[in-house]
Amino acid sequence: MLAELKGLNEECGLFGIWGHPDAAQVTYYGLHSLQHRGQEGTGMVLAQDGKLISSKGEGLVTEVFTEEKMQNLSGNAAIGHVRYTTAGGGGYENVQPLLFNFQSESMAMAHNGNIVNADQLKAQLEGQGSIFHSTSDTEVLAHLIRKGGFSELKQRITNGLSSLKGAYAYLIMTDSEMFVAMDPNGLRPLSLGMLGDAYVVASETCALDIVGAEFLRDIEPGELLVINDEGITSERFATCSQRSMCTMEYVYFSRPDSNIDGINVHTARKNLGKQLAVEKLIEADVVTGVPDSGNSAAIGYAEASGIPYEMGLLKNRYVGRTFIQPSQSLREQGVKMKLSPVRGVVEGKRVVMVDDSIVRGTTSKRIVRMLKEAGATEVHVLISSPPIKNPCFYGIDTSDKEELIAAKKSVEEIRELIGADSLTFLSVEGTVEAIGRQFEGENRGQCLACFNGKYPTEIFSDQEIDFIKS
Ligand code: SF4
Repeated sequence: MLAELKGLNEECGLFGIWGHPDAAQVTYYGLHSLQHRGQEGTGMVLAQDGKLISSKGEGLVTEVFTEEKMQNLSGNAAIGHVRYTTAGGGGYENVQPLLFNFQSESMAMAHNGNIVNADQLKAQLEGQGSIFHSTSDTEVLAHLIRKGGFSELKQRITNGLSSLKGAYAYLIMTDSEMFVAMDPNGLRPLSLGMLGDAYVVASETCALDIVGAEFLRDIEPGELLVINDEGITSERFATCSQRSMCTMEYVYFSRPDSNIDGINVHTARKNLGKQLAVEKLIEADVVTGVPDSGNSAAIGYAEASGIPYEMGLLKNRYVGRTFIQPSQSLREQGVKMKLSPVRGVVEGKRVVMVDDSIVRGTTSKRIVRMLKEAGATEVHVLISSPPIKNPCFYGIDTSDKEELIAAKKSVEEIRELIGADSLTFLSVEGTVEAIGRQFEGENRGQCLACFNGKYPTEIFSDQEIDFIKS
């Protein structure tokens, strides 16, 4: 499904490099490959001759980093960020990396995820005199680091991290070193690679591939890496009580050419489609996927069911950003502009339409109608994940339960609403089985909270408390 139409959006992507003569250009390519994780703002901070230089703006990587701007950017280390706005709202001041110039030190910071106790920490820090420059939850860590009682920066970072609850992958850079931190549950993906002698860190392995870096390993839950001209060191600042990689990274967010914890995302999606065929076999003439993220599961379903896979829906790749707007009216117009049914494929056919998830249901309804108007005699909707019944508090934009159709309606009611001949969601057990992670425990190290309501961290924000009460 098309991210901007579905109402299920990733908060951001991170890229960092240490020890490369052309850090700016490499970061540009890395951020470009992570663009699907956030389109509202992007930035990079470069370490150059003992100084940190920031460049950022609202918009896509190609819009913010024009050829002219890139000519003026150089350095041998950089951290970069692409942002989709959830916590703290939009605006230039919230575009990351955030750069802090204190009297004694400068520090740049980029974050993926969501700090669930940010409001509480912010109130405490403001009470102690801290002045916040952005409304983003990311800045909380900078103030905690400044307030830390230890002199060594690494100790102050470790100390600051220990106060945070929620999901976070952090890149922190000074003019002499880079720190990489992962929350104790490992909720968001982050990988380490090498490009020549330079260390590279990225939210997805596709960014390592794009810049030509060799994948070394994924960052572990509760791990802190320190990278500088001497090399790299690793330590644990927290023990991992419950490894909880976001399941939706496999189902929907990550690029199909990325690997998460050793599992290729396209292969995981294909297996989800195969599992759908195990759980629900439909008598139909063609299988089609809702582009792009529904395609892999559709191929898997077709393979397992023996029903031919066809391109029944076409994505128009040349629609500008005018249609990528979070308002409901533009979202509705956006569906028509971005997807077209292929009449020659679906006319007179019983169609299986595979998509990765249903959030509000409005987009599925329009696509089903589109297929029927193009002559499909039946449209059976298969979803390669369980119903999303609970909001996400870890950096995915589904924090309003009111918007989640599966929180309010039964599967049959949703089927009726979207006008499908049948509707099937994958089971939670089938989802875990199909992705096939090799970790111990019932969840195999996956977060399933938006499906089953079992959140891997403590509850903190007012929003969460309201949700639990409801
Ligand atoms: S609640 Fe859902 S979307 Fe959020 S981190 Fe967990 S699996 Fe991912």
